[in-house]
Amino acid sequence: MMPIFRRLRRRRPFPTDRRYPRDLPPAAREALRQLKQAHELMEQNQPSKAAAIFDKLAEQGSKREAPRAPQLYLQAGRAWIKAGDIERGVQRLNTGLDLMVRMKQLRRLPVVSQRILTELKEHGLTDQAVTFEAKIKNLLATYGLSLASASTPTEKPQLPAKCSYCGGNVLPDEVEWFDNQQASCTYCGSILEAKT
Ligand SMILES: [Zn+2]
Repeated sequence: MMPIFRRLRRRRPFPTDRRYPRDLPPAAREALRQLKQAHELMEQNQPSKAAAIFDKLAEQGSKREAPRAPQLYLQAGRAWIKAGDIERGVQRLNTGLDLMVRMKQLRRLPVVSQRILTELKEHGLTDQAVTFEAKIKNLLATYGLSLASASTPTEKPQLPAKCSYCGGNVLPDEVEWFDNQQASCTYCGSILEAKT
């Protein structure tokens, strides 16, 4: 069973040689198709089209309390910023982060926050970065965390650069690891096998 928009079952990885497992429910298959399309549109430099899809998937995921929903909001935020709609982009980034907190995804919060901060600065969005940093420092402090905990080095094996199911870029620091060999894609929840 493909775990898009549902909690991954740790001991039941689906066969990785099939792109779309036959037992995937039609709604989940359609969501995965759209997710793949959105990642492709980002690569083809059509961020506003991608953003609209990420928005829709994020909203659907959030209604179902899907663990992937925050990441979809963050991706929508990146896409809107790339498309030049800064206000909407920053709003989505905030929604994604708030949702991470609400869904108790605290372990990944420092590294995800640090990456967003770096991206805002790279885009020359200095004011937004300052506002964001203040918010995130407050938020992290509430949970006894800090941005400094994002720089803890990890010694994990190498993952593929892209998820073979949804086409999303794999960020080794941000994925959820199950053990030393398997992690789950932050966008679609598929299992990523480390290279051996
Ligand atoms: Zn994926």
